[in-house]
Amino acid sequence: MTGMNDTHFTKTAALLAAALLALLPACSRNGGHREPADHDGAGETKPGEKKICKEHDVPLEECGICQPEGLAKLKPGESAKLRLASPESATLAGVRVASAQTGAAKEAIECYAEIAFDQNKLARIAAPVSGIVESVDVDLGSTVSEKQSVARLWSATIAEASSKAVLARQALAREQKLRAQKATSEKDLQEAEAALQAAHQQLQTLGFSEEQIAAMDNRKRESVLLPLRAPFAGEIVERSAVRGAMVEAGKPLFTVADRSTMWAFASVPESALARVCVGQEVELRVEAIPGRVFGGKVTWVAAEVDDRTRMARVRVEVPNPGRLLKANLFAQARIFLPGNENAVLVPDSAIQRVEGNTMVFVQKGPDLFDARAVRLGVRSGGQVELAEGLQPGEQVVVAHGYPLKSQLLISHLGAGCADD
Ligand SMILES: [Zn+2]
Repeated sequence: MTGMNDTHFTKTAALLAAALLALLPACSRNGGHREPADHDGAGETKPGEKKICKEHDVPLEECGICQPEGLAKLKPGESAKLRLASPESATLAGVRVASAQTGAAKEAIECYAEIAFDQNKLARIAAPVSGIVESVDVDLGSTVSEKQSVARLWSATIAEASSKAVLARQALAREQKLRAQKATSEKDLQEAEAALQAAHQQLQTLGFSEEQIAAMDNRKRESVLLPLRAPFAGEIVERSAVRGAMVEAGKPLFTVADRSTMWAFASVPESALARVCVGQEVELRVEAIPGRVFGGKVTWVAAEVDDRTRMARVRVEVPNPGRLLKANLFAQARIFLPGNENAVLVPDSAIQRVEGNTMVFVQKGPDLFDARAVRLGVRSGGQVELAEGLQPGEQVVVAHGYPLKSQLLISHLGAGCADD
């Protein structure tokens, strides 16, 4: 930390020195001998019409260096002139200039959110009949594919249904043989066929496939074990199944979740609720995963406000690459509202507070700057919208504007060059 402070101090000192150095040659000219400057002359007037600051070759009433008290009174869009000592001064002081861009000003509602499983991609796997867990094929955290068997269940109900199917098939075979010899009626054959069909249907309802039902003929215990299957690909996030345990019908044995997308429930204050709607973009930052920003979209806005907290729940669907987001994590959400698509944007670092006024420096010539009052709009992601005072394409000081600011305020230190 000490090293950082030292660096900072050295940098500030250097910039101050640069600013002072830039000023001194102007003062030493002792006024009135400056050649007409090569600038666009925003404040230029015919001689005699307006009093000119001879030191700085700008109209006296607009000279920000000589009239710093005027800076506080500037309205958005109005400027004071700032003339540097030489065309090289700005470069020497490290002043960086960039063109003001247009872009979307993203106003956002900031609120807390809690991550949850996507309920559309969450399933509980339960036993369809009561029985005994014969084997457990997956564990917590296991990745499963669609239809993969997660456990096998033995059940008296299944054993009975299986026996019934085997007997029905044998009965049908017998009827078919007798029918071929004309020793039984067509009706008896049809009844045997219907009985077999009913027995198969029962097994299918329980979850057996045709192949498994066909294999039950061998009457091995193995063949009547019911596989419980994952309904879709995902991850086992809950497990209560234990080998050998008795389970009741309907009791969930596993929860499988597809975490490729998650939900976030944001708590939006009542006052901001009217501006939130389905489809708006959301950014989520999770303390537990520093440096990552997750993007999502609002998919639901609650129909009611909590009567105690005065907050409404807003659901956000969030793609979860790398499965980094976990259920119940807390997040900071930014819900973006429809904003000005053609806003004039500058980096935060371009904004200066001078004499209580909010300003930017606009370059008008190699040694001439406007100290321009501006009105700020929406701030977002290191950028700020200039709602008033700056046109797209104007050359704005975006970094190291401090030497310019110190130049404006130098008269307060008794070093200003008043025109007389
Ligand atoms: Zn002046």
